[in-house]
Amino acid sequence: MRPTLRLLEPQLPTNRLIDLCWLRRDLRLHDNHALFQALQGDVSVACVFIFDPQLLDELEQDSKQVAFMYACLQSLQTDLRRHGSELIIAYGPAERELPRLARQCNSQIVYANRDYEPYAKHRDHLVGQSLLAQACTLQLYKDQVIFEQDEVLTGQGAPYSVFTPYWRKWLLQLGNIGVPSFDSLSACHRLLPLAPLALPSLTELGFSEHTLTKLLIQAGSAAAQEALQKFSTRLHLYEQNRDFPAVNGVSRLSPHLRFGTLSIRQCVEQCWPSDSAGASCWLKELAWRDFYQQFLWHYPDTATQSFKSEYQNLEYSNNEDWWLAWCTGQTGYPLIDAAQRQLLHSGYMHNRLRMISASFLVKDLLIDWRRGERFFAQHLIDYDQAANVGGWQWAASTGCDAQPYFRIFNPITQSQKFDPKGDFIRRYVPELAALDNKSIHAPWLSRQLPLEFRLGLHYPAPIVDHSTQRELALALYKRSSDS
Ligand SMILES: Cc1cc2nc3c(=O)[nH]c(=O)nc-3n(C[C@H](O)[C@H](O)[C@H](O)COP(=O)(O)OP(=O)(O)OC[C@H]3O[C@@H](n4cnc5c(N)ncnc54)[C@H](O)[C@@H]3O)c2cc1C
Repeated sequence: MRPTLRLLEPQLPTNRLIDLCWLRRDLRLHDNHALFQALQGDVSVACVFIFDPQLLDELEQDSKQVAFMYACLQSLQTDLRRHGSELIIAYGPAERELPRLARQCNSQIVYANRDYEPYAKHRDHLVGQSLLAQACTLQLYKDQVIFEQDEVLTGQGAPYSVFTPYWRKWLLQLGNIGVPSFDSLSACHRLLPLAPLALPSLTELGFSEHTLTKLLIQAGSAAAQEALQKFSTRLHLYEQNRDFPAVNGVSRLSPHLRFGTLSIRQCVEQCWPSDSAGASCWLKELAWRDFYQQFLWHYPDTATQSFKSEYQNLEYSNNEDWWLAWCTGQTGYPLIDAAQRQLLHSGYMHNRLRMISASFLVKDLLIDWRRGERFFAQHLIDYDQAANVGGWQWAASTGCDAQPYFRIFNPITQSQKFDPKGDFIRRYVPELAALDNKSIHAPWLSRQLPLEFRLGLHYPAPIVDHSTQRELALALYKRSSDS
């Protein structure tokens, strides 16, 4: 327990059975499967959230991820108070805290939504066992995906490792089954009445309060509804705009999907059955999310190991100066630097940029994808292990359905194609603002730099030569697959 942390214990009625709904990455009261199931019986239900030190201790003091989650909890607490109830908060390992609370409440059932990450699976197994020892069961429900675990398999009963056939089957099953919805909200009047309890402050939890003021994406389920509603008015343009980071083309709903302030089922209902190319394209992205979730569930080792065995032992050079330059957005490649600075500034990075920047780290700087994966895990508000590992292994060509090793993004042509006027670069790399639309993609190649601009002084010269590094990367992958 952190020294400054003093949690208030809820005033629970004695001699009464109270079941618990353990909220984790589903911080909302509406369309919440576990909460819906919990509220079906005639036993009172209280909602619980547990701060897990093992997860929190991995994050920096100014973590935007924690600040966002915290703001979501504040909003959830307000929502619960509207129903006369309260969020019970605990701090510590769930396998200790949940049985303790369940004992206090004489709970027979703890309801929760399933989580597919290796750590969460292990934790839930331990919690389930501890609860069983006191005659209480942990009941898990599917909530954060459309299809989970073994629900979409090949004709031979194997998990899919290639997206396109998975997507076809996913779509077929969606057509057959449809999207259920769980009206948990209208049963919330049945939640256990509880007196208000203060949330521990971010400072007490070991984090900086100041980060809350720096969040650029509004937290909480009301904000998620508003963001979805706004996005729905431009959904039909999604396909044509989604690859251009300077354009308001994507939904930016990923933090809400990550913390469950938005239901995935509601997102699917927004775009299916699809009435535009934009809606179909967005539905496909939502299916990628399911794809990576089921993949990590089937292959938990891929969280830290390359899926393709021939690339398990790639001999990365892991140059520390280059690593630092990439982390801080000082590589001398403007679009890469803009991408990295967007991440540091906002806790978000556009998908096209995640692909280019990840490829650059691995195939231009020859740095292990796992370091990049960890860096994103530290800085992304929407950090999701399945999608992040999937994305990194895709970019590194080591994963399922990854791009072939010889496809190496050229950071200059990608910049010319996806940020043609340099608008995005100018937003995040202001020292290049005065460069013309052509020079801004590769200042070192330009003969028309502004007079006052000095490459190497006002902005770094490129730390590597892309063509040289490309050849080195090809040789690296070839050596690994030949050995
Ligand atoms: C190297 C790398 C790392 C990534 N790390 C993460 C991560 O930690 N968390 C995360 O949510 N996404 C991750 N992605 C996937 C994708 O970049 C983000 O989901 C997307 O940029 C979020 O922005 P959005 O909500 O505007 O997406 P939109 O384009 O509006 O898509 C809607 C939703 O679909 C899902 N989605 C879209 N693309 C993907 C994808 N390729 N894989 C899985 N789900 C997808 C997300 O939930 C997203 O919110 C990563 C991609 C790469 C290449």
